Amino acid sequence: MTRLSNDWRRTHYTKDVDESLTGENITVMGWIHEIRDLGGIIFVLIRDRDGMIQLTAPSKEIDDELLEQIRKLRKESVIGLKGTVQESGKAPNGAEIIPSEIKVFSLANQPLPMDPTEKVKAEIDTRLDSRFIDLRKPSVSAIFKIKSKMLHTVRTFFEENGYLEVNTPKLVASATEGGTELFPITYFEKEAFLGQSPQLYKQMMMSAGFDKVYEIAQIFRAEEHDTLRHLNEAISIDMEASFMDDVDVMKVLNDLVQEVIINVKNDCKEELKTLEVDLATPEGHFEIVNYDDAVDMINSRNVPMEWGEDLSRAAEKVLGDMMDGYYFLTEWPTEIKPFYVMPNEKNPIKSHAFDLMYKDLEISSGAMRVHQHDLLREKIAEKGLNPDAFGGYLKAFEYGMPPHSGWGLGADRFNMTLTGLENIRETVLFPRDRRRLTP
Ligand code: ATP
Ligand code: MG
Repeated sequence: MTRLSNDWRRTHYTKDVDESLTGENITVMGWIHEIRDLGGIIFVLIRDRDGMIQLTAPSKEIDDELLEQIRKLRKESVIGLKGTVQESGKAPNGAEIIPSEIKVFSLANQPLPMDPTEKVKAEIDTRLDSRFIDLRKPSVSAIFKIKSKMLHTVRTFFEENGYLEVNTPKLVASATEGGTELFPITYFEKEAFLGQSPQLYKQMMMSAGFDKVYEIAQIFRAEEHDTLRHLNEAISIDMEASFMDDVDVMKVLNDLVQEVIINVKNDCKEELKTLEVDLATPEGHFEIVNYDDAVDMINSRNVPMEWGEDLSRAAEKVLGDMMDGYYFLTEWPTEIKPFYVMPNEKNPIKSHAFDLMYKDLEISSGAMRVHQHDLLREKIAEKGLNPDAFGGYLKAFEYGMPPHSGWGLGADRFNMTLTGLENIRETVLFPRDRRRLTP
C-alpha cells in the first residue's frame, strides 16, 4: 500500500459544489453512482456521504487517454476526480465538473451483490448480507445520521445537566434480574455472562457519591424471540440520579425526548425528507396512564388482561391504538417488576416503576429504586434469587446509599420512533438476532 499523496487530497465534498465555484479547480472523492455513455458525451455521477456531483466529459474537449479511463470505470468503484467546476442548469447541484484527471483507488467487481441505488427494493436479509453496500443508500444512511444526532443530543443534554458519563463492565459474574436471558461465556476457569443492563453498577455509582450518571452502551439479551423490536445486542441509554424520585426522572426523560426531537427536526431536515417522516414535536408533559386504567382500557377493546399481568403484544397494540405518540405507563404491580424497584409505601403491591411508550412500543423502563439494604435483600429472595450471589452489589447498600431513581432508554427503539421504521434491524448497523451473527 502506498500512502495517499498530497496531490490527491479532497478539496470539496460534493454537497458543497455549486455554481458559486464556477471556474475553480477542485478535487472530490467518491463512489461511481451511475455512468451514462452517450458517445459524444459521458456523464458520471460521483457520490460521497452527503451528496452527489456530476462529472461531464464531452469527448471533443477531453483528451483520449482520460476518456478511455472514464469509459473503463465501473459502478461503485472509488475514485478521485480533479476538474473544473462549470455551471449547469441540468446537473443536480446546478454545477458539474469537467474532468482533468482521475485516480482510481479501487475498482468494484461486477455484478454487485445488490443494487445500491434506490431503484430496486431488496429484502431485509439481502440488504443485511451486503450491509456495507446497503448503507451507501441515502435512505439507509439517513437513519444513522439521525441516530448520531440523537446520541449527540443525549450526551449534550446530560453534560449540561451535570451528569457524569460512566462506563460499567459488560463482562459480569451474575445476572441483573435472574438467570434467564443471559449469554454465558467462558471466563478463564469461571462462568461469566455478557451484561444485560448496567443496572446494578449504575446504582453502585450512587453509593459512590457520583450523584448523577449516564451511560450509553451495549446490552446483551439472550432472548430467543424473533420480533421486529428485539435484538440480542442493543444500545441502552441509561441514567441514574441520587435524591430523585420516579416523578423527577420521568421529567428528565420527557425533557430529553423532546430535546432530541427538536434537534433532529432542526438538523436532519434532509434525512427526514428522504425517509418521508413528518416528526411531530410533543408539547409539555407526556400523557400518564396508570397500570389500573391501562388494564381497563385494554379489556374494553376485548383483549383479555388480568390485573398483575405484563402487557401482551395484543395488549400493547390496542393500547397503542388508543394513545397518541409518547405516553408513560405508571404504578406497575411490584410483582412483575425487578427486585430493585421501590414498592409503593402505602400499597406495596404497586410500585414506583414506569415505562415510556411510543404508541405500541416500549422504549424505556425506569423506577425509583429500593435503597434500603434489608428490604433489597428481602426482595431479591422473594424473586427466588440467592442474595449471597449479589454480595458485591448489596454491600454498596450497607455503607451509605442515597435514595435514587433512573431509567434505561433503548437507543435503537427510540430511533425507530424518530425514523418511522417498524423493524429494529433497520436502525442498527450490523444487527444481531437469533439467526444473524454476521456480518
Ligand atoms: P420488552 O418487554 O419490550 O422485551 P424489557 O422490558 O425486557 O423490554 P427493559 O429491561 O425494560 O426491557 O430494558 C429497557 C429498554 O431497553 C427497553 O424499554 C427497550 O427500549 C430496550 N431493550 C430491552 N431489550 C431489548 C432488546 N432485546 N432489543 C432492543 N431493545 C431492547
Ligand atoms: Mg421494560
